[in-house]
Amino acid sequence: MSFNLGVIGCGKMAYALLKGIHGSSEYRPDFIYVCDPDQDRVDLFSNDYKAVAMPAGDLVGKSQIVILAVKPGQVQEVLNNTAVFWNDQKLLISVAAGIKTVDLEKNLNNQPTRIVRVMPNTPSLVGEGMSAICAGSRTTDDDLNFVRALLNGSGKSIIIDEKYMDAVTAVSGSGPAYVFLLVEALMEAAVNAGLNSNIARQLVLQTFKGSITMLEDSGEHPAILKAQVCSPGGTTIAGVRQLEAGGVRSAIFNAVEAASIRSKELG
Ligand code: NAD
Repeated sequence: MSFNLGVIGCGKMAYALLKGIHGSSEYRPDFIYVCDPDQDRVDLFSNDYKAVAMPAGDLVGKSQIVILAVKPGQVQEVLNNTAVFWNDQKLLISVAAGIKTVDLEKNLNNQPTRIVRVMPNTPSLVGEGMSAICAGSRTTDDDLNFVRALLNGSGKSIIIDEKYMDAVTAVSGSGPAYVFLLVEALMEAAVNAGLNSNIARQLVLQTFKGSITMLEDSGEHPAILKAQVCSPGGTTIAGVRQLEAGGVRSAIFNAVEAASIRSKELG
């Protein structure tokens, strides 16, 4: 399939998504156009993805597919300023947290552009991302399937109802930060227990990786696999008791709730 891809906002998320798209054999764009006021970011995208820089209006004019990856607070201005360049031949893919498709459509002065909203996450950079995708009012099933295929090189994706997008943002969008925090905490605890940081890193990373693989391969609920590690009166249950006493479960509930509320506020 032949298309030009525009990217407005060359930040961390756009870089991660383009990695998979640039490496795709089936859905590789003919040209990649970028727009960002930060010259260093433009240079990075030019070097790594052979992207060509241009003003946002020209970019929309020349592209069939446009990824909008500016911060949520900048979305309205970017869309207002480029509204005249959009039409029903364009597909807008917005990754901005919290901004609903109905508001994206309003910000385009109701130009008849098809809009797909995506909530990706940063592991897209290594082809292990998780993206949730939902449709705007003019989006076709072909558009949704195209976006899924386009993101294939970035990891997995699911199509969801937009009403779940704030929860998705709080779980998988923000989730890598929670995981990195847990990994960091376990590494520091390992150092506190007398291990050097190199050994701590190896132990912790493989423990996370192996546990995820066990969950995937067995299809079991995590509670079952957790119980299998906890021998009666043993070391693991003593540790688990301290995690529960420290409120780790409740902290995770609160984190997801707070991130979801914040996502709603951004809209
Ligand atoms: P970022 O700060 O790394 O990137 C934003 C980029 O937009 C910057 O390079 C900035 O210079 C550029 N920019 C600012 N104003 C602009 C304008 N008028 N025109 C063009 N470019 C402009 O942020 P990020 O983390 O990549 O996040 C980008 C979007 O992705 C956000 O809307 C965020 O909600 C969403 N998102 C991020 C993550 C994540 O983990 N970082 C996950 C899911 C969704």
